[in-house]
Amino acid sequence: MLLTPGPTPVPEFVRKAMSDITIHHRTEEFEAIFKNTRELLIELYDMPEVVMLASSGTGAMEACVTNLTHKKALTINSGKFGERFGKICAAFGIEYTEIKNEWDTPVSVEAVVNAIKADPSIDAVFIQICESAGGLRHPVEQIAAEVKKINKDITIVADGITAVGVEKIDTTNLDAVVTGSQKALMLPPGLAMIGFSNAAVAKIESKPRGYYFNLAIEIKTQRKNTTAWTAATTLIIGLGAILEKLKADGFDNLYKQTALRANATREALKAIGFDIYPKTPANAMTTVYTEQSSAIRKILENKYNVNIAGGQDHLAGKIFRINHMGLVEDYEASWAVNAVELALDDLGIRTFDGTANKVFASNMFKGN
Ligand SMILES: *Cc1c(COP(=O)(O)O)cnc(C)c1O
Repeated sequence: MLLTPGPTPVPEFVRKAMSDITIHHRTEEFEAIFKNTRELLIELYDMPEVVMLASSGTGAMEACVTNLTHKKALTINSGKFGERFGKICAAFGIEYTEIKNEWDTPVSVEAVVNAIKADPSIDAVFIQICESAGGLRHPVEQIAAEVKKINKDITIVADGITAVGVEKIDTTNLDAVVTGSQKALMLPPGLAMIGFSNAAVAKIESKPRGYYFNLAIEIKTQRKNTTAWTAATTLIIGLGAILEKLKADGFDNLYKQTALRANATREALKAIGFDIYPKTPANAMTTVYTEQSSAIRKILENKYNVNIAGGQDHLAGKIFRINHMGLVEDYEASWAVNAVELALDDLGIRTFDGTANKVFASNMFKGN
């Protein structure tokens, strides 16, 4: 059972949709598929423009940094993915300032406001919605609203790789929202997407940058339902299939189920003695702090057939992360907390009494 916060399992109907022969990308047949997928993506994002790029999510992060920073970037680092925005700036010789916090701590609205006020050359802010390194939720919407009050021309770029498809994102003050195929969208890795505001499109068009990740060319081309370079045809067919299904079920229904499952999982793990790691947990995943992380994960994998994620860098062996993104079955989430409780018993830490499963089920199905 794959319950890591990316990659997530690819549902059977998506695998089937992607199993047909490879079609040529410069054909009316593919353009019709592209158009349908593009329109669905615009609906999911609730933003006026989108592009699909043949790359992992980091490629779309890079494209946003290089195309949307004209002067100086402000990057928010509360974990490995926020740190990456700064590393991309450095790689391209783009000036940047970073606000750094521990991986359990979201950036404060005030810290961002102060940084913006202190340095008028900052013209773009880069932040995760959910920072997957520790599973925290940044107050992105509030930050975006405050920054726009100071200067509406400052571009807000949100990495929504573990937020798009997890929750309804208020994009009112966001200019670019990045996502990738292998997290909440349940596809194999290799496709990245960006949603844009009209202001972001205008900024990109005012100063086209780059070659492969030249978003001005990509936006212009994708408006004609084709791509500048060879399209990731198979993944785009898969994305169309997944979005059709999510739309038919209701996007809001997906968000509601994910939030319920995340809450039930957090409550179940707290009930058997764990501390939730982030101060503001996101619904994409549950992260708990425990020195027993490696031992628990090993037992889960070998004895109970559950694959969950650990931590990286200084959190290696200190946290574990259980995924809630995508179409996770209730019985899978319920089994995961059950297995964690069993592992505690196996390690002689806490005698098994079924508490995790009981708390999960009552929160998931009984409203408490
Ligand atoms: C997974 C992830 C990324 C990186 O995406 P890749 O597809 O591995 O390049 C970036 N940001 C966040 C928040 C992620 O969870």
